[in-house]
Amino acid sequence: MMDQARIVIIGGGAIGAGVAFQLAEAGVADVLVLEKEPALCTVTSPQAAGLVGQVRSSPERTRLAMWSVATFSRLEREAEVKPGWRQTGSLRLAQTEERVAEFRRLMAVADAAGLETELLDAAAAQRLWPGLDFAAAKAILWCPSDGYLQPADLVAAYQHAARAKGVRFRTNARVEAIRLERGRVAAVRTQEGEIACETVIAAAGAHGYHIGRLVGLELPVFPVRHHYVITTPTDWIRPEMPVLRLPDATLYARADVNALLLGGWEPAALSLDPRRYGLADPLPPIEEDWPVLASFMEQFRPFGGALADQPVRHVFTGWPTFTPDGRFIVGESRRVPGFVCAIGCNAHGVSGSAGIGRHVVEALLEPEPSPYVRSLSPDRFTEAAWDWPAAERQARHVLETYYHIGH
Ligand SMILES: Cc1cc2nc3c(=O)[nH]c(=O)nc-3n(C[C@H](O)[C@H](O)[C@H](O)COP(=O)(O)OP(=O)(O)OC[C@H]3O[C@@H](n4cnc5c(N)ncnc54)[C@H](O)[C@@H]3O)c2cc1C
Repeated sequence: MMDQARIVIIGGGAIGAGVAFQLAEAGVADVLVLEKEPALCTVTSPQAAGLVGQVRSSPERTRLAMWSVATFSRLEREAEVKPGWRQTGSLRLAQTEERVAEFRRLMAVADAAGLETELLDAAAAQRLWPGLDFAAAKAILWCPSDGYLQPADLVAAYQHAARAKGVRFRTNARVEAIRLERGRVAAVRTQEGEIACETVIAAAGAHGYHIGRLVGLELPVFPVRHHYVITTPTDWIRPEMPVLRLPDATLYARADVNALLLGGWEPAALSLDPRRYGLADPLPPIEEDWPVLASFMEQFRPFGGALADQPVRHVFTGWPTFTPDGRFIVGESRRVPGFVCAIGCNAHGVSGSAGIGRHVVEALLEPEPSPYVRSLSPDRFTEAAWDWPAAERQARHVLETYYHIGH
């Protein structure tokens, strides 16, 4: 008998597992997740720093992040397999008057979304991160419910909870084709044969473009290199110290047990044109770019002092995907009924995974998805003309300006 599932999800990273979890929570358990690698969470997701930030420039994005935090807190409290969620709070530093004005706008958005934030003085910040110098900060924004988690633990928590409700996961299963009948999705094909389904959800990360091509869609999903370092341990960093964002220095940081995790947004990023590798190809390997990584440490020196000289123990790197407008691609294609996207995460697919899963549920199951969720649909790229070089440039620019005012 032919294998079948109501919904097939392609990809077992944070997004595929997060969508499976949210579907199961919504009562849809006839779901099969197909992952081409021998295990879940082995491509981009395990490289993530796991930062979860809710302070955003729009109420919709803030609420999505709040949804994620509520999910992580619940899983940490109640689930058998826990996501390793640490609600440390976060500190964001302004070094210019323009940035202070941005903080006021961000706080107004947070208020509108019901997210608690406040301004701290340097002495209060110093108590939270005793080894750092906050003298250059003109304002310090504190969000007590922010934090970080371990991406691999999160995926394991999603998988365990979804499985308990009936969702199936299959590894070593690469989707090679999608069969349409009268224009709508009817089945996917792996090396082991066909699986009949009503709906396919593309959650294939840096292969999102290739999955779209299987149903004749061209979607601008560009992998852009991102990386951070972890130093050797010190005797004073503690895992409960808040996440740090230093937007004027384009840096983020957090404790990694007793070490410093430090990452940044480089001004001249490296992107890939997905047409240059195939559905069956692995992603190009990334070599450590020491000049860029050393520049992160130098930018950190005014705050971290001698910590900027701490030796690097490990570099994490990968190809998160970006879209030209910096927004997720979520929802069903009008052109290909049954084909649903959950791609183009713009470097917050781990923190956003629970919220994106919730958006997929809203787009698929609710009679009236919100205008915001509808605006994330892949139709914005399939019903309008765009050109490849400009789209790739814009996608790269999203990473390069990640901490710019108004981003
Ligand atoms: C260095 C770095 C730091 C980051 N820091 C953060 C952070 O702090 N917070 C945050 O939220 N995000 C962060 N990100 C971004 C985050 O990692 C991504 O947004 C997220 O992992 C995307 O998840 P995904 O499931 O879409 O992709 P992936 O984890 O890449 O999963 C996609 C899966 O699809 C599978 N697949 C592809 N093609 C097929 C096929 N044909 N058949 C079956 N399976 C297929 C792949 O094997 C893969 O497992 C960071 C990324 C990097 C690289």
